[in-house]
Amino acid sequence: MKLISLLVVSIVMISTMSAQNPLLLEQWNTPFGVPPFDKIRTEHFMPAIEEGIRQHAKEIDLISAGKQVPTFANTIEALENSGKILTNVTTLLGVLTSANTSPGLQEVDKKSSPILSGHYDGIYMNDRLFARVKAVYDKRNTLKINSEQSKLLEETYKRFVRNGALLPEEKKARVKAINARLSVLTVQFGENLLNATNGYAMTIDKETDLAGLPEDLIRAAEAKARSKGLENKWLFGLSKTTVMPFITYAENRALRKQLYEYFLNRCNGGKYDNNPIISEIVALRAEKAGLLGFDNHSSYVLDINMAKKPEQVYGLLEKLWKPALAIAKQEEADMQKMIRDEGLSFNVQPWDWFYYAEKVRTARYNLTEDELKPYFQVDSVRKGVFYACNRLFGLNFKKRNDLPVYNEKVETYEVLESDGKLAGILYVDYYAGPSKRSGAWMNNYREQKVENGKDIRPIISINFNYPAPVEGQPTLLTWEEVSTFYHEIGHALHGILSRCTYASLSGTATPRDFVELPSQIMENWAGEPELLKIYAKHYKTGQVIPESLINKMNNAEKFNMGFITTEYLAAALLDMEYHTLGFPTDICPQEFEKKEMAEIGLLSSIPPRYRSALFQHVFSGGYSSAYYSYIWAEVLDADAFSYFSRNGIFDKKTADSFRKNILERGGTEDAMTLYRRFTGGKEPDVKALLQRRGLN
Ligand SMILES: [Zn+2]
Repeated sequence: MKLISLLVVSIVMISTMSAQNPLLLEQWNTPFGVPPFDKIRTEHFMPAIEEGIRQHAKEIDLISAGKQVPTFANTIEALENSGKILTNVTTLLGVLTSANTSPGLQEVDKKSSPILSGHYDGIYMNDRLFARVKAVYDKRNTLKINSEQSKLLEETYKRFVRNGALLPEEKKARVKAINARLSVLTVQFGENLLNATNGYAMTIDKETDLAGLPEDLIRAAEAKARSKGLENKWLFGLSKTTVMPFITYAENRALRKQLYEYFLNRCNGGKYDNNPIISEIVALRAEKAGLLGFDNHSSYVLDINMAKKPEQVYGLLEKLWKPALAIAKQEEADMQKMIRDEGLSFNVQPWDWFYYAEKVRTARYNLTEDELKPYFQVDSVRKGVFYACNRLFGLNFKKRNDLPVYNEKVETYEVLESDGKLAGILYVDYYAGPSKRSGAWMNNYREQKVENGKDIRPIISINFNYPAPVEGQPTLLTWEEVSTFYHEIGHALHGILSRCTYASLSGTATPRDFVELPSQIMENWAGEPELLKIYAKHYKTGQVIPESLINKMNNAEKFNMGFITTEYLAAALLDMEYHTLGFPTDICPQEFEKKEMAEIGLLSSIPPRYRSALFQHVFSGGYSSAYYSYIWAEVLDADAFSYFSRNGIFDKKTADSFRKNILERGGTEDAMTLYRRFTGGKEPDVKALLQRRGLN
């Protein structure tokens, strides 16, 4: 009797909870089933995560306790389809903690992270469940399944093994403990970085100290000061969108140094010190890899990537390092000469590089960033991006004004195929802000999949950190920011054009070193004269970008490429060095970085693209031992784009082949197999990349 009444109570509680908590619904009653951002509150998350875990655990119990012979459908597919609510909730938590976070959400993230890690460990180390997965896997050659299903089977089995399913009990327990700790540390790393970025601003109170700075930057700094109640002062924070233009244009060298040093060291020491976190993460990753039978974390990660082994990665990075460094040295010498010519005697330092590079560029190519920016108003850029998607893949973008958003500046689009069918939903979140992490990224709110014969179209977002417009002013983008738009739309296309069956294999669910191919290849279109003439229009006059300016851009294309390649390779090598350490290991990150950078001969005027304590990709995102992926994928994208260059940048046949063989296929087959299908059997050639970067 008592038991029954208790049950009733809990059912009533759950139903009232779901009435109020939109996160507990498997499907949202919104257009296209998009997340009801207008109804989601911070306090909904923790109960929804707990309930999602409870339901998922119940589903897992049912699968593992099954009395029937394990089959692909009752085990592998059932697993794939389990945990819907939990996936929804954790996806949205990830979306919001990246793009629109708050202390409350950070708290939920921190609190839920080890709980979730424990939950998933419980699944992957569930002996009964694994026995069923293995039983299906062992008879894989006799099953009547298609190639995507066999890929799902293989990936599922591998995921269990890689999470410790084959280990004896005591080792399993240790892996679990390591995962729980890592989940806390990686969240803490990102939180420190965000807080440190928001935690400091340099005050300028003399107008003369603003000399050289662009108008929009000054206005934003003035507005920031005013928002803090400071009149006739200017505040410059530590976000990249502020620091980069500051050190590019500020004539006051001491202030450039001050701001840049704060920027580079904001997580070294003090309240938001990331160094102890790094040492612990590196040691724990090495230990875990050892337990799972790998020499180091890098070998563990690369095992499921195209590169397969650390030697392959080092092979590529080292091939590029020497020529890149040689060019960077030449670039440094050019700047040094300019400094001497100005009658100054200091040696180029990191806070001088951007400033003098811009001066050399102006002198040599008669081209300034300011000259370009008026042609790249954010709306024109977006129109160009959509135009390219239309010409290549027949897509149309219909703006929606009725979909809930978490921030009123976020735009939403219905993406339609040429026949009018829905391809997917796209969110575009443009602007930087204190509640947003730095960088640019794409998110899946909902992955494409086929469920009960129905094709569920994806919901995708792309996120930028463009400087927020000061009221009444247009947002004009730098060339790099324009390229970033094309990059992220490439990821979005990978998601939107997906034609797969299983969510875990669809869209961008590919090896890390393949996933940047669709994004990076799109960057090529940004600078194509044919397209520039369509989208690059002066924001005041509407005039198309003049031919002479396009020529200047082309001439300056390889400018500063030594620096760009070197700072990137340095960070990629740093990532590899951390993660090829065996167990046990005990390092001091700042010394380690210094030693490693000295060993490769990095110039003192060039810091690695990310210093250790700021290296979110590697210590907080999913790119540990995978930062090399960008250049690895660039070998592919440069090679793939050469087919477009030869056949015409909007050639229908080439675009169709890229779409059918790569963009639609997600991770349903081996990445190199997909690539070769696009090229008609040819392996990618590194030549196109060397040429593009002027390294040949
Ligand atoms: Zn990317």
